[in-house]
Amino acid sequence: MELLDQWHLDLPATEGLRPPPVVSLVLPCYNEQEVLPETTTRLVALMARLKADRVVSSDSAIFFVDDGSRDRTWELITRYTEKYTQVCGIKLSRNRGHQNALLCGLMTAPGDVLISLDADLQDDLEAIPRMIEAYRQGSEIVYGVRSKREKDSFFKRFTAEGYYKLLAALGVQVVFNHADFRLMSRRAIESLRRYDETHLFLRGMVPLLGLKTSTVEFERAQRFAGESKYPLTKMLALAWQGITSFTAYPLRLITGVGVLISMGSLAMAFWALGVKMFSGQALPGWASTVIPMYFLGGVQLLSLGVIGEYVAKIYESSKRRPRFHVETLCGHQFIKQAKQSSHETALS
Ligand code: UDP
Ligand code: MG
Repeated sequence: MELLDQWHLDLPATEGLRPPPVVSLVLPCYNEQEVLPETTTRLVALMARLKADRVVSSDSAIFFVDDGSRDRTWELITRYTEKYTQVCGIKLSRNRGHQNALLCGLMTAPGDVLISLDADLQDDLEAIPRMIEAYRQGSEIVYGVRSKREKDSFFKRFTAEGYYKLLAALGVQVVFNHADFRLMSRRAIESLRRYDETHLFLRGMVPLLGLKTSTVEFERAQRFAGESKYPLTKMLALAWQGITSFTAYPLRLITGVGVLISMGSLAMAFWALGVKMFSGQALPGWASTVIPMYFLGGVQLLSLGVIGEYVAKIYESSKRRPRFHVETLCGHQFIKQAKQSSHETALS
């Protein structure tokens, strides 16, 4: 890992097209034994084509990050690293979730350009040459943006698009309809390395880098095989992460609600006083006592919960635990690098 931290920033000339970059494709995989054979075949073919067309450099490679899978995923990855020199594997010591696995891949893989994509072939591989083209024209970050979501269920489409709009309304800068299919240059990766957050929401962090960006549209396909590894609970957790890691708006909202309710109850007190003084018919009201009591109790509990959520985040971040542990690395690229580094150490 240390030697990868020393990866040199070899930025090409700004005039004209940048030279064909060393590209690393980074794919987090969790229990993906059903799709891996097809994904590998298609990616290897794509890489061969891009190398032959001199779009990418011959050192370009594919990095599978096994996120603590319990099926035959790692066995397949090691088999492919033996079969194809450009395939590499990174095995995490246990399941750490998609965002951590992806970050591990991005922090570990070498290359001038890193492209992250899902292992299930939902991201259109034909968008990759277009992303590289945008990089060669000067972009440091290229977002893959879904042009259509027709293949998604109505529920997924509705909730996902609503979520992007909510984030925008809360002031979180995210790219509409972009998930984690993106290209990042070495410069962008090195900037991202400086972000030390425990709770990752990469699609919110990358826009904070502020480098030259562009977008490439693609049509999202259906998962090639197997089931989604993002059940509703994980999706909600990621959505909540996106909000609480990027904005304190919910806390402010609570303050606002508190102020409104206090003002409301003050108005109610005046009203009750008015009724008592002018009509003399103030009935001892059950509803006016009990309902506000329950309502305020609920608001208070909710507020405490939201504040607790932020406090829990501070607590977890203060422990500064590592976000992932790499168990094994395998593949030709890593062997080559290890040799190179031992050679450099011997020379120095
Ligand atoms: N994934 C992962 N760790 C997890 C869950 C998912 O590495 O704990 C990977 C998964 O293998 C896939 C990507 O994250 O490559 C996206 O997951 P999936 O396609 O299941 O999500 P969906 O497209 O259904 O939202
Ligand atoms: Mg998917």
